[in-house]
Amino acid sequence: MSQQGYVAAPPYSQAQPGMGAYQGGFGSGPTQPLYGHYGGPPQAFSAPPAGMMKSSVAPAASMPLPAGSSQYNPNVQQNGSHPQSYPAPPAVSAPYGQPPHSLYNSMASPGPPPTQQLTNQMSSMNLGSHGKFSMCSFYFLVQGLQSPPPPASSVMPPGLQSPHMSPLMSPPQSPPESMPMASQSMAGTSMAGMGRPFPGPPPPGPGGFQQPGLGSAGQPGYPQQAGQFGGYMAGPQQNMPGAFPGAQSAMAGPPQKKLDPDSIPSITHVIEDDQVKQGGQVFTTNIRGQVPPLVTTDFTVTDQGNASPRFIRCTTYSLPCTADLAKQCQVPLAAIIKPFASLPKNETPLYVVNHGDTGPVRCNRCKAYMCPYMQFIDGGRRYQCGFCNCVNEVPVFYFQHLDHMGRRVDFYERPELSLGSYEFVATLDYCKNNKPPNPPAYIFMIDVSYNNIKSGLVKLICDELKTLLEKLPREEGMETSAIKVGFVTYNKVLHFYNVKSALAQPQMMVVSDTAEMFVPLLDGFLVNYQDSRAVIYNLLDQIPDMFADTAESETVFAPVIQAGVEAFKAAECSGKLFIFQSSMPTAEAPGKLKNRDDKKLVNTDKEKTLFQPQKGVYEQLSKDCVASGCCVDLFLFPSQYTDIATMADVPSHTGGSVYKYSNFQIETDGEHFLRDLRKDVQKSIGFDAIMRVRTSTGFRATDFFGGIYMNNTTDVEMAAVDCDNGVTVEFKHDDTLSEETGALMQCALLYTTIGGQRRLRIHNLSLNCSSQLSELYKSCETDSLINFFAKSAYRAILNQPLKNVREILVNQTAHMLACYRKNCASPSAASQLILPDAMKVFPVYMNSLMKTAPLVGSTELSTDDRAHQRLSVMAMGVEDTQLLLYPRLIPLHNIDVNSEKPATPVRCSEERLTDSGIFLLENGQSMFLWLGQASSPDLIQSLFNLPSLAHLQGHMCALPELDNPLSRKVRSIISGLLEKRSNSMKLQIVRQKDKPEMLFRQFLVEDKGLHGGASYMDFLCYVHREIRQLLT
Ligand SMILES: [Zn+2]
Repeated sequence: MSQQGYVAAPPYSQAQPGMGAYQGGFGSGPTQPLYGHYGGPPQAFSAPPAGMMKSSVAPAASMPLPAGSSQYNPNVQQNGSHPQSYPAPPAVSAPYGQPPHSLYNSMASPGPPPTQQLTNQMSSMNLGSHGKFSMCSFYFLVQGLQSPPPPASSVMPPGLQSPHMSPLMSPPQSPPESMPMASQSMAGTSMAGMGRPFPGPPPPGPGGFQQPGLGSAGQPGYPQQAGQFGGYMAGPQQNMPGAFPGAQSAMAGPPQKKLDPDSIPSITHVIEDDQVKQGGQVFTTNIRGQVPPLVTTDFTVTDQGNASPRFIRCTTYSLPCTADLAKQCQVPLAAIIKPFASLPKNETPLYVVNHGDTGPVRCNRCKAYMCPYMQFIDGGRRYQCGFCNCVNEVPVFYFQHLDHMGRRVDFYERPELSLGSYEFVATLDYCKNNKPPNPPAYIFMIDVSYNNIKSGLVKLICDELKTLLEKLPREEGMETSAIKVGFVTYNKVLHFYNVKSALAQPQMMVVSDTAEMFVPLLDGFLVNYQDSRAVIYNLLDQIPDMFADTAESETVFAPVIQAGVEAFKAAECSGKLFIFQSSMPTAEAPGKLKNRDDKKLVNTDKEKTLFQPQKGVYEQLSKDCVASGCCVDLFLFPSQYTDIATMADVPSHTGGSVYKYSNFQIETDGEHFLRDLRKDVQKSIGFDAIMRVRTSTGFRATDFFGGIYMNNTTDVEMAAVDCDNGVTVEFKHDDTLSEETGALMQCALLYTTIGGQRRLRIHNLSLNCSSQLSELYKSCETDSLINFFAKSAYRAILNQPLKNVREILVNQTAHMLACYRKNCASPSAASQLILPDAMKVFPVYMNSLMKTAPLVGSTELSTDDRAHQRLSVMAMGVEDTQLLLYPRLIPLHNIDVNSEKPATPVRCSEERLTDSGIFLLENGQSMFLWLGQASSPDLIQSLFNLPSLAHLQGHMCALPELDNPLSRKVRSIISGLLEKRSNSMKLQIVRQKDKPEMLFRQFLVEDKGLHGGASYMDFLCYVHREIRQLLT
């Protein structure tokens, strides 16, 4: 039987020579080659969307300008040439020879013999299933084989530890005195003249590395390897079942020592250390390729020429110079862009540049927008584009003299010359039909079928809207919101409401022909809330009563979205639908769904169908929505399976969100839902957006992941994009990159503001390039890597068996680390596990990712929950994926109630719990208060006003407001978290050993998975083995 295998050689198509044992042969499922973009195979560049060019009439809006900005409105006639329509193909497109490949491309390559062996081992490991994975344990020693291991604590007392090094991270050969070697690596050697404050690259040149190649190792004396640690593997522990076959020989080993979980790299330490080192500091973006503080660290950003890490984060800030190097290390090259990220109050909002009817200055060839990477020459009359190198004439209105440094004298007065992020007012060329857009509209569409009425949900929504609509987002400086509002109720038919301000009573119009949806009224449907407040109040009061006696339990869904699209089309505006739906649409209408949940498919090759949306109606609907700038947010209140994979299809392609409240009950879920609704309605957001990522020559964006829609291979379309939406962009080489010029990217987002203005938001970022892989590894950002892996794996499960996807994740983890070991680490005993400092906690995250509901094949998990999580993650930014994959576990029993400092989280493992402890756990989606069975009655009294745990009853979802320091402190921690996270979380209170505790335990991600999957320790052992296999 010929076996087709998946090569864990993601971005790049071939395994490197010498690592042949790694190639092919993993897994045995049928291959599903290439999963393309949604909507079909990538197409050649297509014409810009109709109606985005021509004619220019002055947009008169004046924007807030920076101080001393009198020169910002040059408003001088442009010299002839019209700005071209938005998105145009970059001129640079050296043939890379291949269509964009992505992570899970298949490759039918016969694996060399060793592969088979690995395959067998893999299958006996069965990573995804429960209890078969323990096979080894680590015995970490501080020193290498040659010298005996002093106890870690005596080698490096806590006070001496570098913030980034745990004792076992010290280099194997260093004597204790040289421990500050940590600082050696952390202070970094600077790139000539760059003064990097972060772990820096080594000086290039003779002292550096050999060209990474077969068998090459770092040269002696090379001062890095902060993150390596020695570890001997011993044979399987007796109490660990399922010993790994063949593990013994590989783990021949040294003295049997008790396993110390503290000796393996800890995310909580990494987070804490970075907070200590960089917390509260200013991160200035004036240095190319500068690695920002962790996403969890509290810092302030000053924009000095590169976009803030809040807007763009990268998997590495030093790209390998060649495709070969990239292929060799298999570290994905990607950026996670959050174009609308919220900025803290102490950071400057984006400046808006208005060039009047001439529009922004752009490179004639590649259409990149004016930015700090344009080099002015010839006395300021011309400029060379940093992206395509084309030399352009400076438009007459834009001319300015250069100073003695060759810099324009207005450098600091123009955001587009000196900042990483800013906005341009778009001219009519950038507007649909060359007309300025109308302000967007929000339509509230409430399912009034029996379930929603009975649960009290309809009344809850109507009551809330009265106050919430007062808080619609508004343009800065405006007194009221320009957003229009409209209302629809529905079950099997749709009811539209005329709420024109002149009416004394709202009027209802019913459309029962759901096959041919239309909007029965234009005037009076979408109104200004302030003008129509009285009529709207009246309507919101009446709706719950109107349907109080309904017996209708069937609903439609697709026609509801269609109605919204038609309404926006008729009003010539973009906007958002807020749909509150109780069940799967089973009424006879387009988009009718039936129950196709089938647990028998779990762990089979057909499992992927559970994640695939039903084709047809919803696919077309997504297209229509994106074309008319209609974003869909779905609030679901299901009591059973609702086929979320299909129902969430439109939201997930329109930049919308899906919220799910299973078995909704007002008492326990009402407040939770309202918090979500309030956040959602008030979010900062842009509409009818189209994004293009341009790059300098040598590499380009090849793949995109997010709540997006792609009509071609380059334009990322989003009906809306809000402050939480993150788009992950993968890059590939098409040529050699230069160490000298580095690599540049520019993300341009054309969108409509909430006030109805068309704008371009520009984010620029410059990265380093290096022919040394060590540079890449040093500049990696694990949190970004994991975001990329989560999204690419979650997309891959649409087309491949989960088992294959998990294997690819493991193999790539091993490969990336093996490549570091081989090319960047100094020689050391094979038994040592050596990790790059910047990636030392990468394995924890990868292991956690593989244990998430979508990736774990378990019949105990609800299909809807899995589909829901899959889709939510696709649109997440780095902060959200980090938190999701490594929850915060905060001890509360010993908290200092007087301290302002946030409580320090501990590792997510059962070992950290104590019977007498009380812990809070949250991951951005769920929140638990865990009460140890021996918690002190005093604590219980303070928190619950109850004499003991035994008195705690019922489903409590909030702590009582008690007037004592502990209660106040804990409640303030909880409310602080709810405030900070993008979603609301329902507080679930669980007692140790009670049944619901299982829900909590699945978030202890360092432990063995509840539904399968290895513990962190076991996973690390396994990865170590894989690495050793790869290196022999
Ligand atoms: Zn250019």
